[in-house]
Amino acid sequence: MLDPVIRVRGLTKRYGTRTVLDRVDLEVAAGDVTCIIGPSGSGKSTLLRSIAFLETYDEGDALVFGKLMGWRETPLGRELAGERELAEARAPLGMVFQHFHLWPHLSVLDNVTLALRLVGRMGRREAETAGLAMLEKVGLASHARHRPEQLSGGQKQRVAIARALAAKPRVMLFDEPTSALDPELVGEVLGVMKTLAAEGMTMLIVTHEMGFAAHAASRVVFMDGGRIVEEGPPKPLFAEPSSPRLAQFLQTWR
Ligand code: ADP
Ligand code: MG
Repeated sequence: MLDPVIRVRGLTKRYGTRTVLDRVDLEVAAGDVTCIIGPSGSGKSTLLRSIAFLETYDEGDALVFGKLMGWRETPLGRELAGERELAEARAPLGMVFQHFHLWPHLSVLDNVTLALRLVGRMGRREAETAGLAMLEKVGLASHARHRPEQLSGGQKQRVAIARALAAKPRVMLFDEPTSALDPELVGEVLGVMKTLAAEGMTMLIVTHEMGFAAHAASRVVFMDGGRIVEEGPPKPLFAEPSSPRLAQFLQTWR
């Protein structure tokens, strides 16, 4: 059997006495589009950030393509992985957050190519060709020389997606990519994500867009109180939630 793209086992995280992730198990297979839904504070971001090892946790682990993220196994137990090891384990991951984190003083194209040139050590020509192809993909090739401030929120988020894609990730993590956008700009970002899904990209997406989850996800995961309460294909999960908590949560979105 092939390793799943992401495998989370018994992941537990506490802040003081407060448990924000409680023995979470999750597997994402190649080509899966998994949407994580759930109330604010249920641990969705913490789970995503833990998978990428943007934060550490207390128990359990997360593997990406079978590789343990953030830790190194030694005969005496686990120790934190070094920077280089962590960067290598993270390389298959592309990440997009609620806020776009574009560099304001750089052009759109330079935002997309910066990491390719600095981290990937690509030459300018090669990086720009790759960057333009990704901007083309998100429908913004004509904006390559613009500054972020000249773009709408939806366009900025599409640039952030192009930037993530330029590094050729094998799986994309999205944390509420449309939550900071005006409603009329949400569709263009979801449209890009649907295209990626149709192309077979493996995606793990935290979202409050129930319509998107219902139509684009292969699987929906409902979190509450740091646990996965229910998961399954979107149709039955939305139509007939088996847990009262999910039923109640969905009420607020109808
Ligand atoms: P979600 O993304 O589902 O809204 P989060 O993963 O951001 O939830 O947060 C889960 C819980 O962890 C929340 O109750 C939040 O208040 C708490 N939390 C997050 N970061 C910190 C922190 N740095 N210190 C203390 N508590 C935190
Ligand atoms: Mg969050």
